[in-house]
Amino acid sequence: MIGVYQILSASREITMNRRTFLATTAAAAAAATNRRTFLATTAAAAAAATMKAASAATVTPFGQTGAPTRSTGPLPLGPLPGSRYPDSHLESAKPKLSFGPNDFPAFAGTMAVERVATGFRWAEGPVYFPAGRYVLFSDIPNNRIMRFSEDDGHLSVYRQPSMNSNGNTIDREGRLITCEHSGRRVTRTELDGSITIIADKYNGKKLNSPNDAVVTSDGAIWFTDPVYGIGGFYEGIKAEPEQEKHNVYRVDPKSGDIKVVVDDFVEPNGIALSPDEKKLYVIDTGFTDGPDNPSHIRAFNLDVGAGKVSNSKVFAEMPKPSITDGARCDTEGRVWCSVGWGDPNEDGVRCYTPEGDLLGKIHIPETVANLCFGGQQRNRLYICGSTSLYAVYTSVQGAMKP
Ligand code: MG
Repeated sequence: MIGVYQILSASREITMNRRTFLATTAAAAAAATNRRTFLATTAAAAAAATMKAASAATVTPFGQTGAPTRSTGPLPLGPLPGSRYPDSHLESAKPKLSFGPNDFPAFAGTMAVERVATGFRWAEGPVYFPAGRYVLFSDIPNNRIMRFSEDDGHLSVYRQPSMNSNGNTIDREGRLITCEHSGRRVTRTELDGSITIIADKYNGKKLNSPNDAVVTSDGAIWFTDPVYGIGGFYEGIKAEPEQEKHNVYRVDPKSGDIKVVVDDFVEPNGIALSPDEKKLYVIDTGFTDGPDNPSHIRAFNLDVGAGKVSNSKVFAEMPKPSITDGARCDTEGRVWCSVGWGDPNEDGVRCYTPEGDLLGKIHIPETVANLCFGGQQRNRLYICGSTSLYAVYTSVQGAMKP
């Protein structure tokens, strides 16, 4: 199998080289033709105008926060080393008594964790588009959104500059919802490709740096607004926060009004919905700001009709100094979350029962930021782990409403 993957990798390299050559040739041909150059410039200007019109208040050079280069040499694609079945990257919380990890629904038997794409600086915010069978995810420092097509493993740039986008999700109409650091806003990409600002201010002041979002069945958009994206020039544009608190917001689907739904987070980060929409999970990564701050997931009772949450509880504590950055639910209400930044043995994914009991872990050889379910049967978990995108088939399906 290793030989096959080496051949596949080599074949990809050749394909890439050919593409690079073709792109270079095309660029040279365009430069030699004034009319084509003019048309290309006009098209670029039109695109820029659309973005500018969408946010008149933003003036910083969004394209200069990162160069689209690999952070390391390319890591090998395919199953991770040591993936003899049953894959040792899967660890059940309960002792193994029989075939496979007990009670841990990650275990689908003849499966292994695979690295399906690599070469990013900080992969974040994956979202799966079932109609196109692709995953979009942010490469925040490189200021781009990537697209991984699962039919042939093709990887390409979906958007650049991406305004240092972070979390992405999909609404009920199949439109992309994106949280932007340097844009300091939440946007929706319409079906015709135009971009609509969903939220960029609260109380007349700029948002901090929207991080992650979910959309409830009524069309309301809920998002978190910590300050990570304005702390420096690497993942956004450095700026002073204008919001007094780091809030969780809700944007009303009819009026477009933005309201604070929770205001007592240190750093609200990942956000996820239970499949019945009765629970809203919000991660607090305040630990990044000080050792006594939280590193946990909170669960709220969610009233979609009223647009409110109540009864805040700590759902799961993370093993400090590790933090979780993102989470998704499966159809049975289990919570799957990322883990990273601490003990390398904890890097990867954790799976909890709806009651908050740990069922098992998926070990990943890089710090993990976020994850989403995908695949035609929604049984493939896509995992953004630092420089790479990983995937693993599970024995469950992701909730239909991400
Ligand atoms: Mg996040």
